Amino acid sequence: MTTKRLYYEDAYTTRFKARILERVRLEKGTAVVLDKSYFYPTSGGQPFDKGFINDVPVLDVTVREIDGAILHWISKGDIWSEDIVADIDWARRFDHMQQHTGQHILSQAFIRVANAETLSFHLSEETVTIDLEATAVQPEHIEQAEFLANQVVWQNRPVRIRAASTEEAQELPLRKIPAGRDGRLRLIEIEGFDITACGGTHVSATGEVGLIKVVKLGRVGANLRVEFCCGQRALGDYRQKNSVVNRLTAVLTTGAGEIVDSVTKLQEEVKEARRQIKRQQTSLIQLEADNLLAQGKKKNATTIVTRVFTDTESDASHLRTLASRLTKEGDVVALLGLAGEKCMLIFTRSAAAPGDMNQLIKPALQTLGSASGGGTVEMAQGGGPAADAERVEQAVARAERLLLGQL
Ligand SMILES: [Zn+2]
Repeated sequence: MTTKRLYYEDAYTTRFKARILERVRLEKGTAVVLDKSYFYPTSGGQPFDKGFINDVPVLDVTVREIDGAILHWISKGDIWSEDIVADIDWARRFDHMQQHTGQHILSQAFIRVANAETLSFHLSEETVTIDLEATAVQPEHIEQAEFLANQVVWQNRPVRIRAASTEEAQELPLRKIPAGRDGRLRLIEIEGFDITACGGTHVSATGEVGLIKVVKLGRVGANLRVEFCCGQRALGDYRQKNSVVNRLTAVLTTGAGEIVDSVTKLQEEVKEARRQIKRQQTSLIQLEADNLLAQGKKKNATTIVTRVFTDTESDASHLRTLASRLTKEGDVVALLGLAGEKCMLIFTRSAAAPGDMNQLIKPALQTLGSASGGGTVEMAQGGGPAADAERVEQAVARAERLLLGQL
């Protein structure tokens, strides 16, 4: 039981009556086979039509391999009557028509401009792409093909559906002649420009495509992937980009033509500012280290620096940098703490200084009610839950007492 494919003859009918010939019940749902249908099934790079059969949503339309029957998949339940009325979602259908006819035009334009064949076509809700043989395509060909394609749109050439036998097709300027069902081919002819064997739904004159715009290029293996959009999608794309450009010109207080220069300049300024901040941070930390060293306690030859910061004054990264700066040289032990939401201790000593930091940190962390931390003889760190400055100072003081005992 096969389905008469009415969309082959007419892409504009959106409401039709038909009869249910068969119901298919599979795990994915129920499908009905109709005696005739305008619903386009996913094939040839073009997705299926959506719509309703007796007000029941059609969620997918597929072709049954074995006999070419068209399966209209419905959400759940069943359609109880044999005679049905179906409606096709015109906005979606027309979008597919605009993109697909636009693809035929653009593909032929690439043949004319760069002698580049289209190897595949893909249409989805997000993007429309063709893959071209890349070797022949030069950068200037992209705009040339796009311009030629749009000229064909403006010329509003008739788009005709023709049927031909495989033999008849040999006489026509077809680039590729597919096998065809029962030796018959369905041809889409754009008057005086292109003729292609195709089963898709197309507009009846090129003007309906509206606009063809290449939006992105990419490499896929040895091929060139050309992403483009036609008609209403092109309008949507233009709107979105225009709004972005307008917002940028307002934010940057510059003209559209100067956006790139303006952003490049900003990026350079940010880079330079970061370099400056880094330089200033380095000298600031050095200054801080020098100050702390000057205030440090002396025991024998060792300078002991203790300091607890609040989390508005410092953070983990600052604490680590300061600790390593303090103990880079000489005979220094630094016992640093950070109070706040997450408290932290970092104990370090210079290579020449005495003391075992790992032994000092454990009891200090106990004071903070934390057991997570440790390290080596020269450097140990650990953290714990929220603790105020007073508490962290107690922990550091405990470590200092232990250290003085070790010296
Ligand atoms: Zn096609």
